Amino acid sequence: MAEEKKAKKKFKPYKKTKPCPKCGSGVRLAEHANRRSCGKCGYFEKK
Ligand SMILES: [Zn+2]
Repeated sequence: MAEEKKAKKKFKPYKKTKPCPKCGSGVRLAEHANRRSCGKCGYFEKK
């Protein structure tokens, strides 16, 4: 019996998003295709 060892580890690296300049480091900006936006204060910036 041949034992096949699959040592493929698949993991997603944590994406670090920018913190909101208005709300502080506790609030991260949501990533969009062409902009980043804050869901708390409505701040957004173009990429
Ligand atoms: Zn904000």
